[in-house]
Amino acid sequence: MDTTHSTDSQPSVAIIGSGPSGCYLAQFLRKQWRESEIVIFDRLDTPYGLVRYGVAPDHPGTRAVSKQFDRLFARDNVTFVGSTVVGSVEGAGHMTLDKIRTAFDIVVLATGLHADRALSVTTDLHGVYGAGHLTRLINGHPDETVDGLELGRRVVIVGHGNVAIDLLRLFLTAPEQLRELGIAQDVVDAISAGPVSEIDIVGRSMPSQAKFDLAMIKELAKLPNVRFEADLVAPAEDEDASRHDAVQMLIDGSEPSAQRVARFHFGFEPVELDGAGTVSSITLQALNSTGRTMRLDADSVCTAIGFAENESAPLLRADHTSAEHVDLERGILGDSLYCVGWLRRGPRGTIPENRTDARMVADTIIADHLVRDAAMPKPGYSALNIDTHSAAI
Ligand SMILES: Cc1cc2nc3c(=O)[nH]c(=O)nc-3n(C[C@H](O)[C@H](O)[C@H](O)COP(=O)(O)OP(=O)(O)OC[C@H]3O[C@@H](n4cnc5c(N)ncnc54)[C@H](O)[C@@H]3O)c2cc1C
Repeated sequence: MDTTHSTDSQPSVAIIGSGPSGCYLAQFLRKQWRESEIVIFDRLDTPYGLVRYGVAPDHPGTRAVSKQFDRLFARDNVTFVGSTVVGSVEGAGHMTLDKIRTAFDIVVLATGLHADRALSVTTDLHGVYGAGHLTRLINGHPDETVDGLELGRRVVIVGHGNVAIDLLRLFLTAPEQLRELGIAQDVVDAISAGPVSEIDIVGRSMPSQAKFDLAMIKELAKLPNVRFEADLVAPAEDEDASRHDAVQMLIDGSEPSAQRVARFHFGFEPVELDGAGTVSSITLQALNSTGRTMRLDADSVCTAIGFAENESAPLLRADHTSAEHVDLERGILGDSLYCVGWLRRGPRGTIPENRTDARMVADTIIADHLVRDAAMPKPGYSALNIDTHSAAI
């Protein structure tokens, strides 16, 4: 059955957030509604969210998905409106969600989750940095500044996910290579100042459950002048040994006389940070029955333990989840209001997983629209009648 609507019944759609989930959603909706007005708003003047400001700059293949999204704006008649923070405030560069909902038939929140999840050990010591802050800084995000960044020689990274491994790799990459990747000179200088020569990378899980991908570990083997070490325990017979074996291969292949060292610690969590003003050590505790503790000297601690809603930013989803008829499983936040991507399902998953998510939410939106009374279609962008500038792509 062709469910494509005629021109006059095709709804106007506003998508808030131009990361992968917002862009994939626009792709799916454009396929269904060829004549709809589809506008993607973003708080930044450049689109693509974490594709631009999260993915490591030495992974150009992953970033190439943005070429596919470029076609949305160049060919598929989707409009990008940058420099517009959507939330509860109205004014220069800010627009309320209510105003957008009044103008568009359908509104979808695709604003992601950006705040660094904090360690359970609270600290106000200098020298503790979140991976979100660091990766945005490395990728030239306009909100971030290098002021105060001092990694020093001994860095502890907390977290064993791919973002943690990105940091490990970038901290051990030569300054001239970092420059070639397009990283700003002041950021290269700050990363390389120590220079970082000792990294401990700590995770709660044992290797069989570690969150990093095997390819990420294999890539580390290309770093010159690094000795890899780990407190590895052989996995049980019924456990997945692939990550354990990959780390073992990394250790076996690394240079024993290398001047820089990276040590993996599995099955530990931080219990204390010490220092006078600036962090100087971190104490870890084993999560097994021994409860053994280990103190590591650290000039800086980088946390890569996940993301959350930014409490200082408008809590778009939280504002609406108490409303009636919320069905997050299907991406429904309210009447003609939806959510997609990390905002909908939490800060987990790769770029392609947002495609699957966007397809599901697009199906929900289309199914809802088929049964909605569209007697009074809303006019879309023209009704906003404001001076936001559309970034040309
Ligand atoms: C550091 C890091 C590295 C990663 N590396 C990889 C990788 O190598 N490969 C991979 O497959 N996946 C990677 N991921 C995961 C991937 O980036 C995410 O799956 C994906 O970006 C989530 O898409 P999203 O659209 O939900 O959110 P985002 O990409 O975060 O997009 C949200 C967009 O909303 C905008 N926005 C936020 N608030 C507002 C507001 N109030 N008003 C207007 N606009 C707003 C933001 O500016 C942003 O453009 C990485 C993630 C991180 C954090």
